[in-house]
Amino acid sequence: MAARLDGRSAIVTGGARGIGAAIAARLVDEGAMVAIADLDGEGAATLAMRLSPDGKQAFGVACDVGSEADVASCVQATLSRYGRLDIVVNNAGMMTFKRIEEWRSADWAAVLQVDLIGAALFTGAAFREMRGGGAIINVSSIHAVQTSAQAAPYAAAKAGMLSLTRTSSIEGREREIRANAILPGAVDTPMLWDNPNIRSGAERIDPADVGQPEDIAAAVAFLASDDARFITGATLTVDGGRLARL
Ligand code: NAD
Repeated sequence: MAARLDGRSAIVTGGARGIGAAIAARLVDEGAMVAIADLDGEGAATLAMRLSPDGKQAFGVACDVGSEADVASCVQATLSRYGRLDIVVNNAGMMTFKRIEEWRSADWAAVLQVDLIGAALFTGAAFREMRGGGAIINVSSIHAVQTSAQAAPYAAAKAGMLSLTRTSSIEGREREIRANAILPGAVDTPMLWDNPNIRSGAERIDPADVGQPEDIAAAVAFLASDDARFITGATLTVDGGRLARL
């Protein structure tokens, strides 16, 4: 049986490590050709070399998702390498911590630029280049709907991503571009364990509620594939059931 994503070309942002690295590996496994875009260009290139030593199915690109110029050159590099663009996974993200009275304009701008505007820039670039349909998957967070102290810009950006997903699905409909969001719960990556709310014990997580990056990657691969052809504008919570409990 042919792999689900055979011949499709994808960009995965923040793909050098954590959830993004698992997504890149899964998409390669399912047959896609993947541009791994990350601020850490060296890490992206190293992973690409590991996933596809001959470069046919993966290459690394240094890219700051918050920079319009970097986004444009990442898309162009993908098109010149693979000749098409079918899938964009907006996964790059950052989380910083302060109390609400301490946030200043520049702090808000820094987080929103990466976590929300970065996804918007890649979505716009994808809309300009996708031919014959496509899939956009926004890696949001359960912080889009419930949150904890000290993470106001992150939670706002992740909530904004749901709205971006909705608009993208509406405007993509005529061109068969689907857009969906994933809300991961706690996932075993550096971002989770660096979280000061978790380090201090202010936010408690049952070990059974911690998923693996591969759990998110499996959901992304599904939403990217034709198995999800009738799914657009949707949000899929992948949190092991954490949000559902009282
Ligand atoms: P991570 O910190 O382990 O990895 C993030 C990757 O994004 C890194 O490789 C980093 O270099 C890259 N990156 C950061 N800023 C960038 C920028 N401006 N341009 C390009 N690349 C950039 O994080 P993770 O846990 O793998 O998180 C991935 C995504 O999943 C994020 O959007 C995060 O908000 C979301 N998420 C994570 C969790 C979790 O518990 N780990 C939960 C919910 C949502």
